[in-house]
Amino acid sequence: MTYEPVIGLEVHVQLKTKSKLFCACSTEFGAEGNAHTCPVCLGWPGSLPVVNEQALKLGIKAGLALNCKVAERLKFDRKNYFYPDLPKAYQISQYDMPVNGRGEVLIETKMPDGKFVEKKIGITRAHLEEDAGKLLHEGIVDGSLVDYNRGGVPLLEIVSEPDIRSAQEAYDYLTALKAILQYVEVSDCDMEKGSLRCDANVSVRPAGQEKFGTKVEIKNLNSFKMVQKAIQYEIERQIAAIEDGEAIVQETRLWNDTKSATFSMRSKEEAHDYRYFPDPDLVAFTLSRELVDGIKKTLPELPLAKARRFIKEFGLSEYDAYTLTEDKKLADYFEGCVKEGVSAKLASNWTLTELLAVLNEKKLSIEASPVPSQKLAGLIRLIEQGTINGKIAKDVLGEMFTSGKTADVIVKEKGLVQVSDTGLIEKAVEKAIAANPNAVAEFKAGKQKALGAIVGAVMKETGGKANPKIVNEILQKKLQN
Ligand SMILES: [Zn+2]
Repeated sequence: MTYEPVIGLEVHVQLKTKSKLFCACSTEFGAEGNAHTCPVCLGWPGSLPVVNEQALKLGIKAGLALNCKVAERLKFDRKNYFYPDLPKAYQISQYDMPVNGRGEVLIETKMPDGKFVEKKIGITRAHLEEDAGKLLHEGIVDGSLVDYNRGGVPLLEIVSEPDIRSAQEAYDYLTALKAILQYVEVSDCDMEKGSLRCDANVSVRPAGQEKFGTKVEIKNLNSFKMVQKAIQYEIERQIAAIEDGEAIVQETRLWNDTKSATFSMRSKEEAHDYRYFPDPDLVAFTLSRELVDGIKKTLPELPLAKARRFIKEFGLSEYDAYTLTEDKKLADYFEGCVKEGVSAKLASNWTLTELLAVLNEKKLSIEASPVPSQKLAGLIRLIEQGTINGKIAKDVLGEMFTSGKTADVIVKEKGLVQVSDTGLIEKAVEKAIAANPNAVAEFKAGKQKALGAIVGAVMKETGGKANPKIVNEILQKKLQN
């Protein structure tokens, strides 16, 4: 029998505010334990929460970018549970009147044959809530420590519809979601700092069946790759269990990355009953249309729209366009190159391969690149004009990183101008042919690869500066005679 996986994701993102959701404490990451606390976020009796206007605005902005219906009226509720990282013994969240209702995200998902297919993932809701504190167990012999700095930090919980059908689609959805949230600047989405977290609901059902199978929730997913691996594992585990005649139990499972498996954490019987009720300290309120419309006007061009424009306007491949637009700064860099008048195809290739390779090696982000887009365009122009070949250009790029000089200056100073003088190249080719009789014989016997050795010898003779196109032409002519 064939089975169809049904997957929904719950994503928590930390909103980029200076202060917490209901008090003036700082949200700065990495401060000393409990430095950012006050009576409100510690839940002292008599203290009163006040909604952070900026967090509300960012929440609305994210909702608009996810095509959600923004609420006219919203309210905050208490989600009650007892845990040491929650000093009030309840979390302020939103239950039946969330800030953002139904929405949708369009993604381009990569099929096994390499082609991209558009897919719509529904958003159930995206609501505001405060984060809990953090328990520290490591290296502490008796007991545990608790740090409430994170307690009260604003989060947006984005719940998807069960529209996802594979581990790859889940990965693509998360990538698209992260890109959108970064474009609209509501969150830095840094998983290492915990500002983006994801839980996955996974079930399987026989292909063609409408009724959902029993779902399992997977927690402890610390990277998109981990989400993908855990979902794939869980799909296979559930199918194997059903084939063996076992019933799937509704439960929460934890992903263990070292064992590459999920393990049962708690079953449904132990699930919390949160006893939601409206927070009496925070009355329901109405959002003005002017506020929502004003925020809507600030939305930038979003990743998918940008990618589609790159394909249409610059003739880029889908893969290049989607890769460039995953990061707004990368997309801006590429467009900066193109604005200088160089070929978009070359600008895309040089940005995505050579530039990113050097940046990764030096552990630099695109915005910290010592070679700005205008300078990379200067290098690309030299290739287009035939002044230098691609191989020399790579060396020049390395030199641009260390010296900060332009490509023009480096090429002039080092005498790297490409040799296109046919007489000179002809001499070098003749010399290379004479010095490599074996390679010549192999080539004549039909081995195309043998040509590489002769080309290499020509390049060595010309200090790597020979025009590769002319070298090839002359070499082919000579060998055919
Ligand atoms: Zn506080």
